Amino acid sequence: MKTPAELPILMSQRSTLTKDLAISFLMQQGVENPDCLSLAAGLVDPETLPVEETLRAAQQVLATRESGIRALQYGTTPGSAQLRSELLTYFADLEKCSTESLGIDASQMILTTGSQQLLSLVCETLLDPGDICLVAGPTYFVFAGNLAGVGARTVTIPSDDQGMDPAALDHALEQIASMKELHRVKLIYAVSYYDNPSGVCLSTSRREQIVEIAKKWSREHRILVLEDAAYRELRYDGEEHPSVWSFDQERANVIYTQTFSKTFSPGIRVGFGIVPKDLVTAICERKGNEDFGSAHFNQKLIATVLRSGEYQGHLAKVRDGYRLKRDAMLAAAQKYFSDLPGVSWVHPKGGLYVWMTLPESLESGFDRPLFSQAVKHGVMYVPGELCYAGPVEDRPRSQMRLSYGVLPVDLIDEAMRRLADAVRETQSA
Ligand code: PMP
Repeated sequence: MKTPAELPILMSQRSTLTKDLAISFLMQQGVENPDCLSLAAGLVDPETLPVEETLRAAQQVLATRESGIRALQYGTTPGSAQLRSELLTYFADLEKCSTESLGIDASQMILTTGSQQLLSLVCETLLDPGDICLVAGPTYFVFAGNLAGVGARTVTIPSDDQGMDPAALDHALEQIASMKELHRVKLIYAVSYYDNPSGVCLSTSRREQIVEIAKKWSREHRILVLEDAAYRELRYDGEEHPSVWSFDQERANVIYTQTFSKTFSPGIRVGFGIVPKDLVTAICERKGNEDFGSAHFNQKLIATVLRSGEYQGHLAKVRDGYRLKRDAMLAAAQKYFSDLPGVSWVHPKGGLYVWMTLPESLESGFDRPLFSQAVKHGVMYVPGELCYAGPVEDRPRSQMRLSYGVLPVDLIDEAMRRLADAVRETQSA
């Protein structure tokens, strides 16, 4: 007879859907190879973290007993009224219009624990097992995990240096319709600015076309575009693009998500979203069931730095710092990789990532010689095949996501030198 401690724990079927996710592999590799220079970690630069700004904001939030008590109490499920109203003004600034002409009210603004929570809530609220989400290839791998976690099917739409290809999106929906599966399509997911992992920014005309396509194929029910604008404010050069959301005149087909993680602090975990009016209750009910509101105190911190202008000042510094690091990585790519045949990379105009494509013969996965060689040389990257949704056998295998977020400029050069050595040695082995 076994003791209770020797008996197995029976997991839910749902929990098996989140086994072997890319993010778990990545975290594990980071733990196993602590001495490597990491071009893999998607973390923000520790040098940019706003310690003094946050201290000043906290002092302000806690300046009187009354304001302190308010901030330290539970908030509400959709989040602090003060921050939501502050965010309407902030978002109107981003959209270059007045708060009135946004055509939404504060109830449509929902505050979450990072934008990741909202991405996950959207999946849970909209997708039943077998429902379909169309995503770009490659795409943000944590979101691919969210989709897997609710049992959704994914259809990958090819993406180039302008982002997801609208003609391919339209064609995919046509095919789905011809297979009588249109009723299962709920979402189109797009990282609209400086994509994680590909670094590309969706062109303005494609933004408009994607909204048009979502509307065109909304027959019996609405097909929603989930616009993930996590990197919107990390623009270093190039054109400023209006959001995908701005092309949805009726404010009915696009869910918009953004975060303060990349531009201020991921530790504060404040993200927000704007959702169509008739989706607010379902999202809030789901969130209520999970946590009945994200950290109220942290929302007050963000409201304070937005109102004082400290956020905007900090953002300008963060942008300048990352621009230098982006330039350092591109210069190093040119220096160490340009003589390697069949190697190409995207020149991002913002964000934190350079997406590199190797010759097809050079596979980059965790279990391939290139990865071991890179680790031997003391450098790590994210294998590109982790950044796709759908069946593993259909994914390209010779790409890498290289992040310039964490390392300082001189170490970015060193890491790229090591990586190029690993590529050369693997190729000639
Ligand atoms: N979307 C994208 C594309 C991201 O890269 C990230 C962070 N890696 C997020 C959303 C979520 O970030 P957070 O939860 O910190 O807001």
